[in-house]
Amino acid sequence: MRKKGYCGSSCVCPECGEDADFKGYASKTVTSLLGPIEYPRAYYHCDHCHHGWFPTDEELGLTERSTLGAREVIALAGVEDAFAVSAERVLQRLSGISVSASTVQRVTETVGDKLAAQRQHGDDITPGESWDWCLDAKGQRVAYVSLDATGVPQQGPHAERADGRMAWVASVFNPAPRDAPAKRRLRQVRYLSGLMSLDQIGKQLRHECQQVGVSRDDVVIGLTDGGNGLEDSQDQAKWACPELCVRQDLLKLSLVS
Ligand SMILES: [Zn+2]
Repeated sequence: MRKKGYCGSSCVCPECGEDADFKGYASKTVTSLLGPIEYPRAYYHCDHCHHGWFPTDEELGLTERSTLGAREVIALAGVEDAFAVSAERVLQRLSGISVSASTVQRVTETVGDKLAAQRQHGDDITPGESWDWCLDAKGQRVAYVSLDATGVPQQGPHAERADGRMAWVASVFNPAPRDAPAKRRLRQVRYLSGLMSLDQIGKQLRHECQQVGVSRDDVVIGLTDGGNGLEDSQDQAKWACPELCVRQDLLKLSLVS
């Protein structure tokens, strides 16, 4: 790596291709897993298009106010409890990181938005793996999917009353045979959840099914309570079956309440 990002008295501007001048060093403090780190780096400015940048920020993944490792830990703590509790108790005890509740909220929501966008786009979040699906009496592989909606209370921007929203909670899972030890009833499972339309959660669920090796020839059993938005059997078919699953004759949709 070049010394603190210094690559000569001038370098090529990434925006316009003209020469940009080295203007000096500027420090930035970032939150790392080992606490705050002060980090001096070279600054370049282009007089032609007025673009200014620090070459090492991009190179070292330090464009934010915290390192990648710190953001991962902050976001994990942020989903475990209320943001204030995560900031004041969980993070400080587990890692010694000292950040405000609003930082925990911002980092967690940013990571969440990014993940939601990736899922929406159909990107893989977890690598694909072919599960060892259990077989039914006829020797056919059997996969289970489930879908339900749950109410999430909401608060307006200034703590006003607001209507609750329904979040979808879905899973694809591979239960162990009945004679398996009680502790190992669930062999493998992947969960999905979010505030989105039925079409969107259905699409994401099918993507996860493909990721874990559910194929056209498998039996897919869908579990739902049939409530809220799923009353219509066409709706049920829409999320559980379509292009993935299916030989329709093999789809068994169990309605449990
Ligand atoms: Zn330029």
